[in-house]
Amino acid sequence: MALPSNQKRKKFGKGEILQEAPPAMASRLSSCLDDIKISWQKKRNNIAGLWQDWSKIAGEPLASNCKPLSLRRGMLVIGAKHPQWLQALQYNRTQLLARIRTQGYEVRDLRIQQYHPRAKKNQLESEDSIWGRHPSRIDVHGIAKCSQCSSPAPAGEMALWGMCGFCRRAIILSNE
Ligand SMILES: [Zn+2]
Repeated sequence: MALPSNQKRKKFGKGEILQEAPPAMASRLSSCLDDIKISWQKKRNNIAGLWQDWSKIAGEPLASNCKPLSLRRGMLVIGAKHPQWLQALQYNRTQLLARIRTQGYEVRDLRIQQYHPRAKKNQLESEDSIWGRHPSRIDVHGIAKCSQCSSPAPAGEMALWGMCGFCRRAIILSNE
């Protein structure tokens, strides 16, 4: 005997009864899949989603030195603050693109550019970055001869003050 498609036989004692098949389950599952698909689609065209996944995708130290800037029509622009990270991005470009796609983002191509973050300009610079540029760093600026006292002194001080830090201080003190 042919059963209606929404029913199935179920053993009941020695006989069997007809029981409603659970169609609700299937439709609930498919609407759930739709929901996932929608949020997935939202995510894969969304720069904010990419920001969220960025450290996972790019890995450190690349992730904290480079940042996705925009995602429009599948063109993802990634910015790096410093030239050496720009280079690192170029070098990892193919791998990075593959990983972005694996995470479900519809990215057709990558563009890499240098960027200058504006948001942090007014914040206090970290001591590290100040020290990194400090004129007294001979490992950064090299060494030169002071025009005043002729002793070897950091080239950064010479570039900034035209003399070494000691001579500068002496002049400041004598002017006070
Ligand atoms: Zn000097």
